[in-house]
Amino acid sequence: MAVDSPLHSRMSSPTTSEKDVKALKFIEEMTRNPDFVQEKVLGEILSRNSDTEYLKRFGLNGSVDRKTFKSKVPVVTYEDLKPEIQRISNGDRSPILSSHPITEFLTSSGTSAGERKLMPTIEEDLDRRQLLYSLLMPVMNLYVPGLDKGKGLYFLFVKSESKTSGGLPARPVLTSYYKSDHFKRRPYDPYNVYTSPNEAILCPDSSQSMYAQMLCGLLMRHDVLRLGAVFASGLLRAISFLQNNWKELARDISTGTLSSRIFDPAIKNRMSKILTKPDQELAEFLTEVCSQENWEGIITKIWPNTKYLDVIVTGAMAQYIPTLEYYSGGLPMACTMYASSESYFGINLKPMCKPSEVSYTIMPNMAYFEFLPHNYDGDGAPEASLEETALVELADVEVGKEYELVITTYAGLCRYRVGDILRVTGFHNSAPQFKFIRRKNVLLSIESDKTDEAELQKAVENASRLFAEQGTRVIEYTSYAETKTIPGHYVIYWELLGRDQTNSLPSDEVMAKCCLEMEESLNSVYRQSRVADKSIGPLEIRVVQNGTFEELMDYAISRGASINQYKVPRCVSFTPIMELLDSRVVSTHFSPSLPHWSPERRR
Ligand code: AMP
Repeated sequence: MAVDSPLHSRMSSPTTSEKDVKALKFIEEMTRNPDFVQEKVLGEILSRNSDTEYLKRFGLNGSVDRKTFKSKVPVVTYEDLKPEIQRISNGDRSPILSSHPITEFLTSSGTSAGERKLMPTIEEDLDRRQLLYSLLMPVMNLYVPGLDKGKGLYFLFVKSESKTSGGLPARPVLTSYYKSDHFKRRPYDPYNVYTSPNEAILCPDSSQSMYAQMLCGLLMRHDVLRLGAVFASGLLRAISFLQNNWKELARDISTGTLSSRIFDPAIKNRMSKILTKPDQELAEFLTEVCSQENWEGIITKIWPNTKYLDVIVTGAMAQYIPTLEYYSGGLPMACTMYASSESYFGINLKPMCKPSEVSYTIMPNMAYFEFLPHNYDGDGAPEASLEETALVELADVEVGKEYELVITTYAGLCRYRVGDILRVTGFHNSAPQFKFIRRKNVLLSIESDKTDEAELQKAVENASRLFAEQGTRVIEYTSYAETKTIPGHYVIYWELLGRDQTNSLPSDEVMAKCCLEMEESLNSVYRQSRVADKSIGPLEIRVVQNGTFEELMDYAISRGASINQYKVPRCVSFTPIMELLDSRVVSTHFSPSLPHWSPERRR
């Protein structure tokens, strides 16, 4: 079977480098018999963690086989593991989940009680992540030649971090990776040369970091062969930054001196070696291109040698595809990998395919994977009825079916529900490939924020208290992630009912306060994006005239919805519905200031 694999045939081409051949062979090896690899991975995890409090609790007695594991260890969510996580975060160093010491917590963009979930990780996980990264360029080189002849302009950032009460660092997985020696001291590799210096990437002030990264990208514009950020929203923020700052950037280029807004000593020092002399020609070119009203295709104008955008546009990020197409003049968008704080999962073996066709091949060496058939807890069946043994193995999933991903990691998560819904699209060798369908329970998302229905409901309740005394009520609401403007923002549609016939509604001032109150009620990832990253704009409430939500119901019924089962959608994106709502707006209100946020977790 492997001989027919496209990877295999291209691997034997004399132009493929030795390093790439090694990586491609590894992919072939992993995908030829994923079941064997999975059995080995679970065996390793269970034997090294056999003395942990968690596994002992379920009476595994040293068994390392799948059958015993699946019959004794329950499928869990974060809430189930919270007591253990709390003890580790408070400083309990006994082997609770993992026999290897937990070195830090990775703060997920998924939240629990409004705070980022804390995912345990161990030292060697960095090697596993590094291994997955090392497979990306060898695959890309099969499709795009000559990537060693230039550079990548990647907008990469670290985020703020904190320490748990027990002294463990708590930070996002990419911050952990960029600060590690694996990244900082990476050996020279002609296929992985970035325009952004480490000093700029590692600067915690995102504005100085972005300025320096953009300036380097402009100075080296002819070298840039690929352009990216982790997620589509990040790349669009960079374009928006250029829109707002090109004059200052052009001034630096024309004078050969760095703007005084950069005061980080490490960046200043490094930039003094990059921005060494005035470049009048480049400054004039930039001024000419950027001062035009129409920014269509701006990416290819400024970076004419760009072959593709390296950016995730699957899942929640798909909403940004049209805007990215506009700015890039239709460059291909490569979604190279699928990963999370819990574990990195897999890679896209056809990175130049259309966004709608992206499938990720899970690498069976990363963790032990199980798949919960998705209709299992759908259709009203209580989740308690879930039979642990009914979970499907990686090698046994079926094409066309949807599953929720469940993982067991080296760091001690056992049968943990990640919350991602994936659909099997095919196989590479014997390894299944998955289309990312969606994250469970996410209603609104602009970038890494994930707001669920309960959080939105709570925010509406808290805000509506501000005019409860006046006798006004929110009788219906829905929401929408507005991403046509950068940064995007949440739009909440409210239908209000006043106490009396006059139906007098709250003042503009009160409504503005309601917007802010809603923001204060949303989770810490949302508030961090608003305050520290400025990647989400002020929340907007659009008040609609009375009867609008009834019209919405009439519309749904006219399209076949059942009257008995009709529920107001708490999030909308379908154009005719948006048009209906927008045509009934009587007033709009924005949050007047930033909500509170600090890197410290609420305890
Ligand atoms: P975090 O734990 O904050 O790193 O977020 C991880 C989550 O981001 C995953 O569980 C997915 O829901 C989402 N995600 C990661 N990679 C991708 C991808 N390539 N496509 C779509 N969603 C992704």
